[in-house]
Amino acid sequence: MKALVKTTAAAGLSYVDIPEPSMGREDVRIRVLRTGICGTDVHIHRWDGWAQRTLTLPRVVGHEFVGEIVEVGAGVGALRPGQLVGAEAHLTCERCAHCRAGARHLCTGTQGLGVQRDGVFAEFITLPARSIWVHAPGISLDVAAIFDPFGNAVHAADTFDLGGRTVLITGAGPIGALTAAVAVHRGARLVAVTDVNPFRLKLAQTLGAHHAVEAAPGAVSRLLADLGMDTGFDVAFEMSGNPQALHETLSHVDRGGHVGLLGLPPEPVPADWADLSLRMITVHGISGRRVFDTWHSMRELLRDGLDPQPLITHRFPADEHDEAFAAAAEGSAGKVVLTWSEPTGATA
Ligand SMILES: [Zn+2]
Ligand SMILES: [Zn+2]
Repeated sequence: MKALVKTTAAAGLSYVDIPEPSMGREDVRIRVLRTGICGTDVHIHRWDGWAQRTLTLPRVVGHEFVGEIVEVGAGVGALRPGQLVGAEAHLTCERCAHCRAGARHLCTGTQGLGVQRDGVFAEFITLPARSIWVHAPGISLDVAAIFDPFGNAVHAADTFDLGGRTVLITGAGPIGALTAAVAVHRGARLVAVTDVNPFRLKLAQTLGAHHAVEAAPGAVSRLLADLGMDTGFDVAFEMSGNPQALHETLSHVDRGGHVGLLGLPPEPVPADWADLSLRMITVHGISGRRVFDTWHSMRELLRDGLDPQPLITHRFPADEHDEAFAAAAEGSAGKVVLTWSEPTGATA
């Protein structure tokens, strides 16, 4: 089968033939239909310091996908060929104390698809049945392909009660823009987004952000003044990984407010902990998705009319991966989706 593989310790990926993955009795085999390119994949493509420290080669890349089940293992009861599925890309151990307590998102032995084990940029994948999510009938393939970052946004937004609240989001990448959409859907009174990239600010506004502000020193203070807000934001999300944005987030959340951290600064960033303590700020780390609570919430949000489609700005066939990664790495893209095959329409 064809797959996009990081074969050598250098920039780029190879579109090569590899053997189809083997399959155990608790697994399902899936034909991949669409995949989303994530920032993680761009780091791996570039072969930056993080990728060099984290990956062992060769590695099939990718974790955002939608596919169609083609075969189920003998020990798999509830799934069947033809079903349109995604999967939780953090494969959990099912043995640690957190897994056994039903908090799989906290698993201590989690393995990332396309990072610690072979990923989804391939014609076929096999995955444990316990990681599979069955999509609602009629879902757009493009939207199904981006359930992973959509889930990051829903996990972040639903960490706090946003109804009637004022919300600041620093970073209007796909997850930041989707978080704005979810916050508005949850009834936030005011959602403001900052980014250095005008294209991404526009995308966040298309998805529902009330205010989109170019990130610059003093920009959030000026926005608060323009809005006549003499307090900070009730809830602030840092989604850029930029140290200056983290500083803006922590300093513009109101007394007693809540901060959600999803962006990953490349280095440790100092913070004024005394100020955070005296202002009684709650800081909450957010990673991945709750398994599968977040997935159920996504299904309900789509049914209620939230539409992530404007986020998908580019589509390429899988063999045009060079063009696709160039688009994803460049500023004027939302999500870039690769096509691997079309659904057969076999009855699910
Ligand atoms: Zn991702
Ligand atoms: Zn575990």
